[in-house]
Amino acid sequence: MPGSEISQTLFDRARAVSPGGVNSPVRAFRAVGGTPRFMREGKGAWLTDVDGNTYVDLVASWGPMLLGHARPEVIEAVREAAARGTSFGTPSEPEVALAEEIVARTPVDLVRMVSSGTEATMSAIRLARGWTGRDLIVKFAGCYHGHVDALLVEAGSGVVTFGLPGTPGIPTASTAQTLVLPYNDREAVAAAFAEHGAQIACVITEAAPGNMGAVPPLPGFNEFLAQTCRAHGALFVSDEVMTGFRVSRSGHWGLDGAREGWAPDLMTFGKVMGGGFPAAAFGGREEIMRQLAPEGPVYQAGTLSGNPVATTAGLTTLRLATDDVYAHLDQVAGTIQAMAVKALETAGVPHVVQSAGNLFSVFLGRTEPVVDFADAQAQSQPAYKAFFHAMLDHGVYLPPSAFEAWFVSDALDADALDAVERALAPSARAAAEA
Ligand code: PMP
Repeated sequence: MPGSEISQTLFDRARAVSPGGVNSPVRAFRAVGGTPRFMREGKGAWLTDVDGNTYVDLVASWGPMLLGHARPEVIEAVREAAARGTSFGTPSEPEVALAEEIVARTPVDLVRMVSSGTEATMSAIRLARGWTGRDLIVKFAGCYHGHVDALLVEAGSGVVTFGLPGTPGIPTASTAQTLVLPYNDREAVAAAFAEHGAQIACVITEAAPGNMGAVPPLPGFNEFLAQTCRAHGALFVSDEVMTGFRVSRSGHWGLDGAREGWAPDLMTFGKVMGGGFPAAAFGGREEIMRQLAPEGPVYQAGTLSGNPVATTAGLTTLRLATDDVYAHLDQVAGTIQAMAVKALETAGVPHVVQSAGNLFSVFLGRTEPVVDFADAQAQSQPAYKAFFHAMLDHGVYLPPSAFEAWFVSDALDADALDAVERALAPSARAAAEA
């Protein structure tokens, strides 16, 4: 292996000019230690760092790169769009076509584009409050919805608690309107609505949480949330920033709501729909969405919203993401999970592998299913750290934190899967020794 000297040099430069040397905290490898790898290039399923190391990429830019890196059709479409001008501050055709594609794939009637998942959830919450005229929101511990003040909260000690700011810089007033509940806990939801139902504007949840590792909703949980919200005049906001257009052509809703016959009132999207560019969206029922400015009184805006290059990348990605692609993603996700289980069993490492569609996580040091954030916290972080570094040394790039999902791409071919399999056995042994 070529080492990581150039990454280290860049990291030193980066730390001199930006906090932690990164533009988003998880990239700094704080949870696993070591030198973050500065990537130079991505092609298909592979990343190449500045020192010349190559890795099979199982992070996929935290979700967006559904088709793998630098897919020629996407790059060509982006090149052509950029050559026509990169931003107009006017409406343009690609954003309309992307909105049509989203409306065709999901239960939302109308969408509004933004530039990040954070903006999407922030705006959906504002709209839910504007529509209902209520202030309280309900979220679940372990679900991440971006760094929105009202959503960046920690649970207090009780089962139904008003949130405490998850970071300095958030006024307690911003989180005092947020109820934080344990995930997958119907009783807690019922108790929260019994006490505060008339003041609750919305429940927001990840359609299938991926931000505490992959923790699928227990059967019927999302439907229960939708019904509970309806019964109390609150809105059900399903955050599909991570799962949208990834776990099926219509996201996680395609795996539960479409089959069970219910739909969220509002949904948020990001990641895949931007094809590797900053594009995100929120959408929902027509009468609610028409409350947004300029049609209605709820204000929301963005200089680069619906950007023609970003929406072209997203549209091209979605058009290439056919049923065959989703079938392939399910297959490779299944293969990698089976390989991981085999390696961990052989090495004698206690583990749970769980999935929500093709999104999955490997929890080490635990054998019981992980159904909520408290369970996720009971995994062995030292074991993951050893496992992560051994995988990295053997050329596989995993999420640099135990509380994340692994992301597959359509570019994972037999060569890439072989490389993953070869890396797993020694990495499982490293985890066993941790
Ligand atoms: N919601 C979910 C479910 C997410 O996974 C993320 C990002 N990981 C966000 C919202 C925030 O998106 P962004 O990072 O684009 O602001």
